[in-house]
Amino acid sequence: MTNPIPWSGSGLLEEVRQRSGTEVSACFQCHKCSTGCPIGPEMDFLPSQIMRLVHLGAENEVLGSQAIWLCASCEACTTRCPMAIDIAGVMDALRIMAIDRQTVLPDAHGKQFHRSFLGSVRRHGRVYEMGMMATYKLRTFDLLSDVEKIPQMLAQGKLSLLPNRSGGIKGVREIFRRAEEEDRKP
Ligand code: SF4
Ligand code: SF4
Repeated sequence: MTNPIPWSGSGLLEEVRQRSGTEVSACFQCHKCSTGCPIGPEMDFLPSQIMRLVHLGAENEVLGSQAIWLCASCEACTTRCPMAIDIAGVMDALRIMAIDRQTVLPDAHGKQFHRSFLGSVRRHGRVYEMGMMATYKLRTFDLLSDVEKIPQMLAQGKLSLLPNRSGGIKGVREIFRRAEEEDRKP
């Protein structure tokens, strides 16, 4: 029996491997990640399809997809993968690559949502939803959508008017500092 030819992969595959620290080439398309993804029905490409596109080196399709911006980083896919591929980590890496390459996003609001979310975590050590929503709305000029839900969310205690800082804020800021340091490395 002859040995299978090792998959040498694409440049994209190698870059994703390096940036995410996970072995995407181990994916054998079982689709368990996709069947467990809560956002899957809204995505243009399911997580398993994103893995396949990375294998194929389809950079434009992957970095231009809505899927990478809709991903909620819930890690359901990562926990289901029989090959221990960190698919959520791959999605993170792809978002960073899309920003680095200034890929035109199909959903520019998605990028602004991520900026607002990360800015809030950085400032408060956790998400301050009210502040994040205000920042997001100002960035997208989408001032009125969903505002009718705010009174009910306040009444149900799902939103707080004031930020509630995390005790681990120093640690969170250190994570951001290190991530930026890594980003500046050639
Ligand atoms: S981390 Fe993203 S891709 Fe994975 S299951 Fe959650 S939403 Fe889907
Ligand atoms: S669960 Fe893992 S092996 Fe299966 S398709 Fe998804 S990434 Fe590939």
